[in-house]
Formats: sequence, structure tokens, C-alpha cells
Amino acid sequence: MQARVLDLRGGELRIELPDAPPARRRMLQAWVDEVAAGIPATFGRWPLERAWVRIVEIDSRDRSPVPWGQTQRGGASPGVLLYVREDAGLAELRGDWTATHEFAHLFHPYLGREGRWLAEGLASYYQNVVRARAGMMAPREAWRELDAGFRRGERDTRAGPLASAARGETMRVYWAGAAFWLEADLALRRHGQDLEGVLAAHAACCLATAPARDPGGFVAALDRIAGTSLLAPLYRRHAAARAFPALAGSYATLGLRREGDALVFEAAGGEARAAIMGGDAAR
Ligand SMILES: [Zn+2]
Repeated sequence: MQARVLDLRGGELRIELPDAPPARRRMLQAWVDEVAAGIPATFGRWPLERAWVRIVEIDSRDRSPVPWGQTQRGGASPGVLLYVREDAGLAELRGDWTATHEFAHLFHPYLGREGRWLAEGLASYYQNVVRARAGMMAPREAWRELDAGFRRGERDTRAGPLASAARGETMRVYWAGAAFWLEADLALRRHGQDLEGVLAAHAACCLATAPARDPGGFVAALDRIAGTSLLAPLYRRHAAARAFPALAGSYATLGLRREGDALVFEAAGGEARAAIMGGDAAR
């Protein structure tokens, strides 16, 4: 195991690489550096003064280059464990969302079982936003990925409130959660703010002192930071919802329309889309 510390705006990331040939280690290092840099490029800062990421190589037949990733919060500082397929190449790794997803988790406190949809939703939303903003995927591709996630979540939704989603509703937990954060982001933007700014301000003031809290308390803290009272009622509505969130309002704002399996991009929502995913408003 070899470690190196990466200085990022707002904190440092200790990168632990596996014992591997030097060229392989350099490649893994370049990949993690690029993914990590996408976080301050989007949020304006790294969430924590100190965090770590450990890369473990595994022999796996999984098609994913990163079959498993996980946030760990038990130790002196929170960190991310990434299991990378030992034959995964740079192009494959750059196309994968897992590392960005896990780094995005570092922006929220531990939210318990009741807040799992909020935590997974935040990471699922930003795995697309961050990669688009950092140029790791095209903005339209990011919208398609988000929409495909929402469709998987819709298919996976059974009865019962989101906050107590059952086993077997994993896609609902992830993507109904992401739909909440998209709606929250749009609501903040209508008030001249944005979600990444509010999350960054929350990381600066409150994450280290409250590493775990109840989900309602976390959302209330974000409202306080934003000086709004938008997020708490939105949170309560989504937590109690028995159906997958309606996307019509958000999609109208964003100029997104489903046509069968395809997603149509209308000119009218170009600026709203670009504000979130970056790129040119005309595309
Ligand atoms: Zn996750």
C-alpha cells in the first residue's frame, strides 16, 4: 500500500493505492486525481478538512470496472473504499460513476436508515452533475443518465412511504432521492442560489461538528444556510410520498420531454439545463 496526499480547495485527500507495477499505480493515481478534482470544480471546495480514499484491486467478472464502492465513517476521518477490477483500464475507469458517487457522499452527514434515500439520492444526483461539469461526460449524456435512473426508480416503486422503502426497492431509494435533490436544486435556483453552494457552505460550517444527524435536521440546516424555507416542506412531502416523485414540473423548467425511451431537449430549457450540468445553453 502506498499513500499520497492530494491538496484540494477546502481540505486534503489521502490516496492509498495498491501495491502494483509503477505504471499501473500511476494510472490509478491519475484517475483518482481527476475524479477528486471534479468535486471542487463543481462545489467550489472539497467537503472535509481530511478524508481518504483506498483503492483495492480485485479479480472480478463483474462488467463494472469498479464493482463496489463504499463510504466509511467509523475512523478518525471519513473515507471512501473503492474496489477496482484488476484489469480495468483508464478509459473504463473514467467512464464509471462509482468514485464520484462515493465522493459526493462526503457532503452529507450520516443520516441513518430513515435518511438513506436522502443520502443515496444526493450521491446519485451528483454522480451525473459532477462528471458533466468536470467534462467527464457530455451534459446531454448526464441528463439521459439521470432520466434513465428516474425510470428505473419508477419501475421499482411499490406502495408505502419513501422514508420506509422496503428491501427490493433499491432503485426507488436512489432515484426518488435524486428527484428530490433535483427539485431542491431548481427551487434554490429560482431564489438565486444553487444546491452545490448551499452544500459547500454547510460543509464549511457544520459537517465536522455534526458528522451524524437526523435527515430532517440536515435539511433544516440547509434551509437555514440558504435563508429559505423551501427545503423542509419539500423533504416532508417526498419522505411521505407513496408514489415516485412527479417530474413534470422539473422537466418543464428544464425543457426535457420523454418520447418513448428517448429524452428530447427543447431549446426553451437550455439555460436552466446549462446552469446545472454546465456546457453551452444552446446544446
Ligand atoms: Zn451511495
